[in-house]
Amino acid sequence: MKTRIDQILAKEKLNRLDIITLLSVKDTQESEKIFKKAYEIKKEYIGNKVYLRGLIEYTNKCEKNCLYCGIRAANKSVDRYVMDEKTVLDGARYAIENDYGSVVIQSGEICNDSYTDKIAELIYKIKQMGGQGLGITLSLGEQKPEVYQKWKDAGANRYLLRIESSNEELYYKIHPQNDKHNYQKRLEALQSLKDLGYQTGTGVMIGLPFQTIEDLANDLIFMKKFDIDMVGMGPYLEHDQTPLSKYDHLLLPQSQRFHLSLLMIAILRIMMKDINIAASTALQAIATNGREHGLMAGANIIMPNVSDLNYKPKYQLYNNKPGITENSDSFIENLKNKLNILGEEIGWGVAGNSRHFQSRQK
Ligand code: SAH
Ligand code: SF4
Repeated sequence: MKTRIDQILAKEKLNRLDIITLLSVKDTQESEKIFKKAYEIKKEYIGNKVYLRGLIEYTNKCEKNCLYCGIRAANKSVDRYVMDEKTVLDGARYAIENDYGSVVIQSGEICNDSYTDKIAELIYKIKQMGGQGLGITLSLGEQKPEVYQKWKDAGANRYLLRIESSNEELYYKIHPQNDKHNYQKRLEALQSLKDLGYQTGTGVMIGLPFQTIEDLANDLIFMKKFDIDMVGMGPYLEHDQTPLSKYDHLLLPQSQRFHLSLLMIAILRIMMKDINIAASTALQAIATNGREHGLMAGANIIMPNVSDLNYKPKYQLYNNKPGITENSDSFIENLKNKLNILGEEIGWGVAGNSRHFQSRQK
C-alpha cells in the first residue's frame, strides 16, 4: 500500500504542508525513500559527479558577533591570524595542480578598504595561476555592491552568503540586534550578488535553538523563491565560548540534527533539481561519513580544506571541527575510495558550475 510519503514523493510540486510532512519523517524506511528519490533526481539532472572546491580559510578575524559562532569578534580566546600571500597562493596552487577545478576563499567579515583590496589582489593572482576555467567562490560576508563588483572584476564568479534563517524573528534570536547584524541588509546583500551576476549561494543552520520544522520548511521555500544557484547548509553545532551556548539544553540530539540536515538536502534537491548543493563540513563533524551521507541524499559538492594545516585549529566556528589533522592528499585518497563504493565520481579539472545558473542565463 502507498504511504503518505509515497504519495508526496510522486507529486510534481511540493507545497508547504508536503515539505513539513517530509521534514517530520523519523522512520528509517520512510526517510530512505526520500533520500533515494533525491538521489535519483540528482543523477538524472546533474549526474553522479562530485565537484571539489579547495577551501582556504584566509583569516579568523571578524568584525561581527553572530551569537553562534566561535570566531565572533568578542571571543577573546581565539588566536587570530591572517594568512600571508604566499600561504594563500600555495593553497590555491595545490588545488589547481590537483585538478580541483575550483577554489573557495572564506573568512570572518571585514569591510575596510585595505582588506577588500587585498582580497581583490589574491583573487586576481589565483585566477592568473588557474586560468579562465577556474571557479572562484567567495564566502566573505556582507559587503557593499561596489566591493562585490570589485571582486567580480578581479575574477570571482560565485558567492556564498547564508541567510542563516529566513525567519526574521529567529534571525534576531541568533544575532545581536544592531546595524551590523540586520536581516534586511543581509537580504539586500544577497540580492545584490544576484544582480551583479554571481552564481549566488545561500543556506541555513539546521537544528538551531528556537527553530521549528515550519521554519525549516519556510527556509526551503525561501531558497526556491529566491531562485538560488547553490546551497551550503548544515547542522547547527555547539561552541562553548558563544552566547548561544546557554541554550544548548534546548537542542535536539546531534543524531537528530544530522538526520534533519539530510532531509533538508534531499527535499531541496527534489524542489530544485539542477542547483549545486554542498555536503557541508558540519555534517562530517557529527557523523562518521557524514559527507557521503549528504551526497547520497542529493548533495554534489565537497569543500576539502587546502589551507596550511597550522591554521585549521584556529578557524573553529563550532566545537570538534573535523579533519584538523588530516592532510589534503590522504583526505582525497579516502574520499576516492568511499565514492567508488557509492558509485559516485569526482569531477576532476572542471569548475562544476551550477547548471541552474547556466540555464538562468539563457
Ligand atoms: N563570515 C562569513 C563566512 C564565514 S562563516 C559569513 O558569516 O557569511 C560561514 C558559515 O558558518 C556561516 O554562514 C554559518 O552558517 C556557519 N556557522 C557559524 N557558526 C556555526 C555553528 N556554531 N554551527 C554551524 N555552523 C556555523
Ligand atoms: Fe563572523 Fe561569519 Fe562567524 Fe558571523 S558567522 S561571527 S560574520 S565569521
